[in-house]
Amino acid sequence: MSALVFVEAPDDELSQQAVTFARTLEADVDAVVIEGTYAPDGWAASIVEVIEDRSPSAVIAPGTDRGNEIIAHVAARLDLPMAANCTSAELGSPASVTRVRWGGSLLEEAKVHGSPLLLTVAPHAVAAGTDAVNVSSLTAPENGAVRVTERLPTVTSGVSLADADVVVSGGRGVGSAEGFAAIEELAQLLGGAVGCSRAVTSAGWRPHTDQVGQTGTKISPEIYIACGISGATQHMAGCKGAKKLMAINPDGEASIFASADYAVIGDLHEVVPAISAEIRKATGG
Ligand SMILES: Cc1cc2nc3c(=O)[nH]c(=O)nc-3n(C[C@H](O)[C@H](O)[C@H](O)COP(=O)(O)OP(=O)(O)OC[C@H]3O[C@@H](n4cnc5c(N)ncnc54)[C@H](O)[C@@H]3O)c2cc1C
Repeated sequence: MSALVFVEAPDDELSQQAVTFARTLEADVDAVVIEGTYAPDGWAASIVEVIEDRSPSAVIAPGTDRGNEIIAHVAARLDLPMAANCTSAELGSPASVTRVRWGGSLLEEAKVHGSPLLLTVAPHAVAAGTDAVNVSSLTAPENGAVRVTERLPTVTSGVSLADADVVVSGGRGVGSAEGFAAIEELAQLLGGAVGCSRAVTSAGWRPHTDQVGQTGTKISPEIYIACGISGATQHMAGCKGAKKLMAINPDGEASIFASADYAVIGDLHEVVPAISAEIRKATGG
């Protein structure tokens, strides 16, 4: 039997990792790439046709937004379970998988019933191999229940959140969209990027692209300055790669202080402008 891999693009690293993962299950691996406008249900329908034609033992995609969405649609069409973010798997009846849960806080071992085994691969669970794989190209169907109608450019201040050495983030404690002016100023003085918590994106104060956390961007800066953020598990899942964490919060019992290297118990509206003023003084700016 063979395994079937959905690749986002032949040279995409996470897709190549999915191919390498598939080889841990089957020696024979086929890959498909879909050309054309993204339409998750339509793309899933194309993959289901390939499954019906080739009867693979497993169908695998990278654990990206798109990979997870496609496999979820395939699972719904075939009325099968799917396992997302797997780090290892073993075929069988039922199959066994180990997968990442809670933003990387725990590994779950699970049994998955039904065939083919449908899964996505946790990013960097395996290193991408160099063996060539045969990639067949499918043409996207014209219609799908959901399709892309517009693309909006990402709003950035110049430094990407995922790559920044310094990230200054604001939470609900910032109080308003306007309150982020002080956070932006400090980030700019430090040559860093602005981040935020989900409370902030939910309130519409910042775009989702600024969100740090389990359902946002995972960051690993030299220093993370968290202002007015309580330290919920889902937020910390996104910033646990930071080398140093400084938290500013008037509530000395806030859980973020348990992870902080530097704790400032105080009001961010006073502390953040004071830090910026000191930096300007020190740099003559
Ligand atoms: C499935 C799921 C996924 C999620 N994903 C994410 C995610 O990716 N990222 C994320 O952030 N959250 C995520 N959440 C939400 C998360 O659980 C929290 O609700 C959220 O992180 C809280 O944001 P916050 O810390 O800004 O707000 P709060 O928890 O309300 O904390 C606000 C903090 O501000 C402090 N404060 C108030 N005034 C001031 C002031 N003047 N100066 C300084 N501090 C002040 C308060 O003491 C408090 O500690 C997720 C939740 C779920 C269920």
